[in-house]
Amino acid sequence: MPLLDRALAAGHAPTIASLIERGARHNDCVSSFPSLTPVCLSAIATGRHPDGSFIPGLTWYRRGERRFVEYGSSFQATLVEGAHIAINDAILNLNHLHLSQSERTLFEVVEDAGLIAASINYFVFRGRVRHSLKHRPVGALARRIGVFDAAYGPSRFFFGELFASDRTGGPPNLGVHAANDDQAAAIGRWLVARDGFDFLLYYLPDVDAAQHRVGPDGALAAVTVADRAIAQLIEAGGGIDPFLERHAVVLVADHGQTAAVEACDVRPALDDLRLFAGSLRSDPATSQVAVATSNRFGMLYRLSGAPTARDLAGRLGVIDGVDLAAYIDDDDIVVECGGGEVRVCPGGALRDRRGNRWTVTGDLEALELERDGDVLRSGRYPNALERIACLLACVNAGEVVFSAAPGVEFVDGGGSHHVGGGSHGSLAADDSLVPLITVGLDPRLPDEPSITDVYGLVRHHFGL
Ligand SMILES: [Zn+2]
Repeated sequence: MPLLDRALAAGHAPTIASLIERGARHNDCVSSFPSLTPVCLSAIATGRHPDGSFIPGLTWYRRGERRFVEYGSSFQATLVEGAHIAINDAILNLNHLHLSQSERTLFEVVEDAGLIAASINYFVFRGRVRHSLKHRPVGALARRIGVFDAAYGPSRFFFGELFASDRTGGPPNLGVHAANDDQAAAIGRWLVARDGFDFLLYYLPDVDAAQHRVGPDGALAAVTVADRAIAQLIEAGGGIDPFLERHAVVLVADHGQTAAVEACDVRPALDDLRLFAGSLRSDPATSQVAVATSNRFGMLYRLSGAPTARDLAGRLGVIDGVDLAAYIDDDDIVVECGGGEVRVCPGGALRDRRGNRWTVTGDLEALELERDGDVLRSGRYPNALERIACLLACVNAGEVVFSAAPGVEFVDGGGSHHVGGGSHGSLAADDSLVPLITVGLDPRLPDEPSITDVYGLVRHHFGL
């Protein structure tokens, strides 16, 4: 049973239960692909999968710079290109260089309309207001060592110990020891008590961190902490009914999580090729393939003299830990899964549960696609076609993308994994299905909602 349902059944989430009672819980809401935090937070903030946000993963190869970008798969992975550049990538570059300039974030949309937006600890925060680092000595040090000393966010902008637009008296938070949700609660309380925003993006990451540590089965206590952090906003607003008279609520997770029981390194299966191992250790001009893996997702980038995407996907297909691989062949999307092959092309007589139209040929069973009249659905891989197509169309994605088998996690660029704990990133349902609860909104959602739909809900609510 999904974590939230277990928490609700055990009475660990009384605040969320009271929101469900007063609003609506929508079934089958699906994450983006890969179901990894930077991709999913970008999907919520811009309403776009990677084709629109340009963010294809937690780690990826940046063709223009011929190096890996690493947003923090693990401490070891951040050392592949150097800790210095990884710090800039995860905070500044993600928002100001990598995230598409053609899309406006919710913060930009809301504030362009003259309303006030607030963000607490949310990684995709791009807005219109320049904020210097919160602690002056840190700013001086940042300038000396050449990392960012400012960023553009919404006018009310809080991010760990790095940025704070206001003095709230919240506890310190260096992003460790489950301090995020407590700090967020203190800041959120302060904002609600002052009626300090029109739109607030309130991000509680400690449930994810707890699941990585102990696996999804052991993380009930973290849900209790998150529930309490939501309760504190509501209390600051005078209790649930007065709070809901003033505010509408969307409660959504960015992705699910599954137990990681086995690590898989795909590199040995490619070791007859010259693999790019980071710009400090190898020359992209003579490397054939760059492997970007993190959690339960990976991408291969074809560099110089690489085998075809089909050949590379075939090599991945024989690795036990790889569940499926996808690539573009002759304008068709090809998905290889369990020995079968599906070819997908946008447009055509079939449609998915979100209304997208497709032409699908080959072995539909491979993706467990079922046909009901002209409607396609897959229980095992929710919203599979839209998600795969939107990833392969991303300018920064690898030519081959692949997803891990049940219980498997790919070893990242620094050799790390979460075996014994939890992981996510794959196309499969456990990593991909998320709770979506709305209160005080008029949600016109497709049969299979997506986290990208939150963007439209917010815009519609404010009449933007
Ligand atoms: Zn995570």
